[in-house]
Amino acid sequence: MTTAPQDTLAQAILRGERRALARAITLVESGRDDHRAQANALLDAVRGAGRQALRIGLSGTPGVGKSTFIEAFGKMLTGQGKRVAVLAVDPSSARSGGSILGDKTRMERLSRDPLAFIRPSPSQTQLGGVARRTREAVTLCEAAGFDVVLIETVGVGQSETMVAEMSDLFVLLMAPAGGDELQGVKRGIMEIADLIVVNKADGDLKPVATRTCADYAGALRLLRKRPQDPQGFPKAVMVSATEETGLADAWAEMETLTAWRRENGHWDSRRATQARHWFEEEVRQGLLARLTGSAEARARMVDLGKAVATGDKMPGPAAEEMLRWLGR
Ligand code: GDP
Repeated sequence: MTTAPQDTLAQAILRGERRALARAITLVESGRDDHRAQANALLDAVRGAGRQALRIGLSGTPGVGKSTFIEAFGKMLTGQGKRVAVLAVDPSSARSGGSILGDKTRMERLSRDPLAFIRPSPSQTQLGGVARRTREAVTLCEAAGFDVVLIETVGVGQSETMVAEMSDLFVLLMAPAGGDELQGVKRGIMEIADLIVVNKADGDLKPVATRTCADYAGALRLLRKRPQDPQGFPKAVMVSATEETGLADAWAEMETLTAWRRENGHWDSRRATQARHWFEEEVRQGLLARLTGSAEARARMVDLGKAVATGDKMPGPAAEEMLRWLGR
C-alpha cells in the first residue's frame, strides 16, 4: 500500500511541525483545482484528531497597537508553555494588493519563538475566499496542537464580522479617545465584542485610557444582556502593550468567559452555529459563482432579462427557468 502525500503531510501536521503547517496553509490558499482536492483530503485526514484551540478574533483600526499587543500577549502565553498561532485577515490586501497587516517586520520576537506560528494575510481576490482559507488554516493550526489561535483583522468593512463568525471569543482593541470618538464606534461592532481592550494605558495617555475604558464599560452595560455570557460580560479592560501591563488580567477575563461558556454548553453551540453558517454561506457563494462564473450563464441572464423587460416573460417564471438551468 502506498501512502498519499497528504497522509505524510497530515502526520507531520499532527506532530506539530511548523513547516508542514505552513505548506498545508499554502495548499488551502491555492486556487488550483488539484490543490483544492489535496486540501480537502488533508483537512479530512486531520479532522479526526479532535483537537480544539481557543480561537480569539482580534480587531482594531491601524495604529491602535495590534501587532504590539499580539506580540506581548503572545509572548506572555508562550512563556506559560502555550503554543500560539497568529493568522492575519487583511481586506486591504485583497482589494489593492497592498497590505495593512502583511508587513514582515511585525512581531519579530514572537515570530522567532519556537512555540509561535505567524501567518500573514494571503492576497486573495475576494473576502469569501479569504474566509474559507482562514477557517481552514485555523483547523490546521488546531490539528497541529496550538492552544491559542489569534485571528487578527483591521476594522474595515465586513472583515470584523467575518472574523467574529469564526472565533470563540472576539476582542476589540481600542485606543484611548475622547467622548466624541466613542460615539463613532459602530454599534454592531460593540455587539459582537466579548472584550474591549483599551490599549496604550501608559504615560500621558493613562488618564484618558482610564476614562475611555469606563466609557466603554458604560456603553457595554447598555447593550442587551446575552444569555451566553456570565454576569459582567462583555467587559472593558485596559492594557499597555508596550509596558506589558494588564495583559494577564485581559487573559484572565478571556479564560473566565471561555470556562463559563464551556460549562454551559455555549462553546459547542457557538461552534455548531458557526459551522452551519459557513456551510450555508459557501453554498450561497457557490450558486452566485455559477450565476456569474460562465459566459453561458451570463448570456442566459441577459436573454431572460430582455424577455422580462419586453413583457414576453413574467419575472417569476423567468427566474424559475434560470434557476432550473443553474441546478441542472
Ligand atoms: P497596529 O497598526 O494596530 O498593528 O499598531 P502597532 O502595533 O503597529 O502600533 C502602532 C503604534 O502605537 C506604534 O508606534 C506602537 O509603538 C504604538 N503602541 C502600540 N502599543 C502601545 C502602547 O501600549 N502604548 C503606547 N504608548 N504606544 C503603543
